[in-house]
Amino acid sequence: MHYPSAYGAAPPGLAFLLDVAAQAAKPGGMNDALPIDPLALHQGLLTIDTHIDIPWPTGPDPFLDGTRKVDLPKMRRGGLSAGCFVAYVPQTARTPASELAAYERATAMLAAIHRLAAGAPGLPARLTVTADEVVRARQDGVLAIIPVVENGFAIGTDLARLARLRALGARYLTLTHNGHNALADSAIPRADLGERAAEHGGLSAFGRAAVAELNRLGMLVDVAHVSRATMLDAAEVSRTPVFSSHSCVAALCPHPRNMENAQLDVLAEVDGLIQITAVSAFLKPHARPEQVTVADFADHIDYAVNRIGIRHVGISSDFDGGGGFSGWNDAGDCPNITAELIRRGYDRAALDLLWGGNFLRLLRVAEAHAA
Ligand SMILES: [Zn+2]
Repeated sequence: MHYPSAYGAAPPGLAFLLDVAAQAAKPGGMNDALPIDPLALHQGLLTIDTHIDIPWPTGPDPFLDGTRKVDLPKMRRGGLSAGCFVAYVPQTARTPASELAAYERATAMLAAIHRLAAGAPGLPARLTVTADEVVRARQDGVLAIIPVVENGFAIGTDLARLARLRALGARYLTLTHNGHNALADSAIPRADLGERAAEHGGLSAFGRAAVAELNRLGMLVDVAHVSRATMLDAAEVSRTPVFSSHSCVAALCPHPRNMENAQLDVLAEVDGLIQITAVSAFLKPHARPEQVTVADFADHIDYAVNRIGIRHVGISSDFDGGGGFSGWNDAGDCPNITAELIRRGYDRAALDLLWGGNFLRLLRVAEAHAA
């Protein structure tokens, strides 16, 4: 087998991939349908990771291969074409002052994501805020940086702030983080903030207005982190398909952050999407990262695909926000995921959908519905 020259020598951490490649390269018939080179196949895909955190307020240089799980050199090395980079706002007690601080933090983080998207010499990158722009960046060999916002607390109780986040490029809003906010109930209430299991019983009236405004602005509604009632409300209210940017399957790992079968079914009904994520405790009960493998991750992909279809499943890492496990420890390891999925019989068309095609479809639907 050979490696594309862009890869250079096989980086460490790809022993598993090499193993798969060696197996796939074993002599077969002339019409053997098995791809012979998973790495080459991976490099040919348009790959999108739909949830990546950025350091805040300061952190390592994103243009150097450093201690972060995602930086531009690791994206290149791992054949990751695009990433949704997150302006994340932690939930705090809700006061006018804390709401303003949350909004200011979100806008400052979006500005930092713009700086990341400027790229560096030898590491071309581009801010991409439409599906077509993501595709064009891939064609141009430029890393695509998609800004997004995690936690509706970023807008406090002021709907007008959504349009300002959108003007800074934000393509989705995760309605909550851990802890309820003015929009909705979270899957994980914050006892330290004095929260009960439910505050609104799902989306609040303000949350419903926020979903309508997200639809109007062409932003996707992200139901990762929200309570089951909120998720069902959002699926019903939103004019565009809701999705989870980073969750796993509750049937395989019961966790409040994971989607129950009934929720998966709803995602399929609304033509939405679950982006299976690399958080070890979502993949295996109480597991630490070193106890989870690419096979465990692929089990969640398989389960969701078998239940609701390939059209409704995708891939995310939550890198630098808690994601990462043995075999997919940073963005440089992305080919390992492709190799495991090839081993399980996913073909090129299926991998295209899982790695980004489905998410691009949702972006396009949101764009078409924007007023
Ligand atoms: Zn999160």
